[in-house]
Amino acid sequence: MSGPHARPPVEVVTFGCRLNAVESEAVRRSAEAAGCENTIVFNTCAVTEEAVRQARQAIRRAARETPDARIVVTGCAAQIDPASFAQMPEVAAVIGNADKAKPDVWRTARFHDGARVNDIFALPETAHHFVAGAVDSIEGHTRAFVEVQNGCDHRCTFCIIPYGRGPSRSAPAGDVVAQIRKLVANGYREAVLTGVDMTSWGHDLPGQPTLGRLVKQILKLVPELDRLRLSSIDCIEADDDLVEAFATEQRLMPHLHLSLQAGDDMILKRMKRRHSRDDAIRFCAMLRSVRPDIVFGADLIAGFPTESEEMFAGTLALADECGLTHLHVFPFSPRPGTPAARMPQTAREVVKDRARRLREKGAQRLRLHLEAQQGRILEVLTERGGIARARDFTMVKVGDVAPGQLRSAKIVSQERERLIGMLDIA
Ligand code: SF4
Repeated sequence: MSGPHARPPVEVVTFGCRLNAVESEAVRRSAEAAGCENTIVFNTCAVTEEAVRQARQAIRRAARETPDARIVVTGCAAQIDPASFAQMPEVAAVIGNADKAKPDVWRTARFHDGARVNDIFALPETAHHFVAGAVDSIEGHTRAFVEVQNGCDHRCTFCIIPYGRGPSRSAPAGDVVAQIRKLVANGYREAVLTGVDMTSWGHDLPGQPTLGRLVKQILKLVPELDRLRLSSIDCIEADDDLVEAFATEQRLMPHLHLSLQAGDDMILKRMKRRHSRDDAIRFCAMLRSVRPDIVFGADLIAGFPTESEEMFAGTLALADECGLTHLHVFPFSPRPGTPAARMPQTAREVVKDRARRLREKGAQRLRLHLEAQQGRILEVLTERGGIARARDFTMVKVGDVAPGQLRSAKIVSQERERLIGMLDIA
């Protein structure tokens, strides 16, 4: 079917993290390069049971709405439990995370022939879509996500991700720099480094360079890049070069999302995390002392097994003690196959109640931050939908302007989770 409502030959429905967003672009291009048509790909997430349920629901809906389309499932949920998707009558094929961006796999994939998912732990090489050099733009995105690392060698007791993503592996610095140059040449003003466990970048490369070294190299070798942002990191593994880059490099955005998970040492121990609550507080204070405009976000889990009310109070207090602004709150969700799923569970209503209180804490912290911005003039990067992002990642409503512009905005008010700004007002 041609004309304005014609569906693209390959449609990719993305769930989960930024890594999946950038990989979906490589998946779409690889499937198109292989000549796939009338195909809908679900790039799934497995971080919670709810994410998997939503993918199944979306697959069923797509099959109802486009009965002639070929449905292919990939991503972490497919990698971890391929048979459960292969058994769905709606599904034509299941492709593992290791193969989803390889045109050859799409060219040779046999449909309606069950799941063909390789052992993710047998993966030596780096981010293969670099090899394809496919991703020089990301549809619908103003900020360019750049995959620098994949997989994870840690085994936090609540987490299923390593079973979907495999061992930690790094994209060589030269490939990352080349990728960012391509994206900047295509008009991107901001690059966001992304991975699963980004602070382990370089561990598998000659000389074991650090993430901080990579950041400095990118800023030195791509002077035309206006903004470099990091997605989520593990504070206890931040290296000295990274701290120094935050202290000295204005093009490195003053925003860091931390994988903190809880604010009680016994719970952190039972999660097999590598930091204590004091480590987190010290890290935030230290980084704030060298970069006063920095804003922190954090992932926090509510209702981890064995968590008492007193332990939870430690997590609530951590938001204030670290001065967190953007909270991502996860009600604990037992993932089959993880040690935490076998621990004595916290009652569901308690989990939900604690998640609600943590979100309220998050809203209160964000409100404080938004109030402190009133009357200021902020540099913003415009996006679609009338919004823009400040350097510290705060959302600013600026009205309908073309995306991808660096502009100044005078902050005149706030609403819900964002500021209201007037562009180019001195
Ligand atoms: S560091 Fe822990 S939480 Fe993060 S991906 Fe690895 S196992 Fe999961």
